[in-house]
Amino acid sequence: MKKRILLLATGGTIASLPTEEGLVPGLNGAALAQLLPAGALDYYEVCVRDILHLDSSNIQPEEWQTIARHIFDNRLDYDGIVITHGTDTMAYTASVLSFMLRGIAIPVVLTGAQLPMTHPLTDGLENLRTALAMAASGAAGVFLAFNRKVMLGCRAVKTRTTGFEAFESVNWPLAAAVDGNGLQVRPQAIPVGAGECVLREALCGKVFLIKLTPGLDPEVFDMLLQMHYRGIVIEAFGAGGLHFVRRDLTAKLHAAAQAGMSVVVCSQCLYEPSDFSLYQAGRKVLDQGVIPGRDMTTEAAVTKLMWVLGQTGDPVEIRDYFSRSLAGEVAL
Ligand code: ASP
Repeated sequence: MKKRILLLATGGTIASLPTEEGLVPGLNGAALAQLLPAGALDYYEVCVRDILHLDSSNIQPEEWQTIARHIFDNRLDYDGIVITHGTDTMAYTASVLSFMLRGIAIPVVLTGAQLPMTHPLTDGLENLRTALAMAASGAAGVFLAFNRKVMLGCRAVKTRTTGFEAFESVNWPLAAAVDGNGLQVRPQAIPVGAGECVLREALCGKVFLIKLTPGLDPEVFDMLLQMHYRGIVIEAFGAGGLHFVRRDLTAKLHAAAQAGMSVVVCSQCLYEPSDFSLYQAGRKVLDQGVIPGRDMTTEAAVTKLMWVLGQTGDPVEIRDYFSRSLAGEVAL
């Protein structure tokens, strides 16, 4: 029997058409599916729904909730779900869906393209075909398919503006890849589900990301507190360091923690885990109660903090969520 796949279209370059104002998402999901080569759809029973028509720069927490609800409401009627989405914020969407739909029992696969589907050299055909194959694979979880590779949604990072190798799986092996034997799924790279899937869609939008620069003025944290931000992710230096000489970030982080702000510290290096216990410049902030982000991507750290703060305001519970891997986003 053919696998039943739901294709949810949200816009992005894959669906874009040229206009006088630049590329604008203009194709609906049915048009995207029709552009697949003859026979590509014969393997599946595909049902198409248009849920958004946006450049992904305009996809924000409200749209994440819309996408999550569509997935949740349809999860029992399909073997897998494919979401076409702009590439620019796809890694954020893939990460946050991993938390909102924790324990989802079917494959949910995001994909898109660097060139519109109507372009003669589009990469969209290959990406969509890979996503469909992954959606039919039975591997449970949220994934991102691009350039014949499939990665965990919460490990994906967009690393190229135009190259077809646009996404990388950071600090985690690929979940699947296409080769001469077809789609090769790697079960050892896919975390086992965490019980029954419950839609947890509450998110806190008041999370700020700071990329540390030498000499950053600590008063920026006062400003964020005044603006009622509840969480900050800091991309610190190297394996884990923040300045405390002359401009003392440590004291400010202490004050922020006292005021109820949750602070997660990661590295601005893309690869390998951060370890804030290595240097004095890192240990000082751990002593202030900041939460180590370890090997999480920035996208995963930001969306996890938005999601966790949507679930609880209790500092002990927040810390507990960050001490666990919810969807494979952190290696412990
Ligand atoms: N600006 C587009 C988007 O993210 C880029 C793309 O889809 O590749 O919607």
